[in-house]
Amino acid sequence: MLELRANCECCDKDLSPDVTDAMICSYECTYCRSCVESVLENVCPNCGGGFFHDQFDQESQDETELV
Ligand SMILES: [Zn+2]
Ligand SMILES: [Zn+2]
Repeated sequence: MLELRANCECCDKDLSPDVTDAMICSYECTYCRSCVESVLENVCPNCGGGFFHDQFDQESQDETELV
């Protein structure tokens, strides 16, 4: 099972795997949902990509190997 151990890159909030408000962008930058919605406006400041929930990424891995 894919484990996500990260903090929000914006506010440094702890984002454990069972936290449902973790958001990840196309290039795997990780943020909490409140930052994505209120600060970032659904656009990653690092790569300009959009966000999706990391949970659903585990089942559709179309573009996860971008490294
Ligand atoms: Zn945050
Ligand atoms: Zn990004």
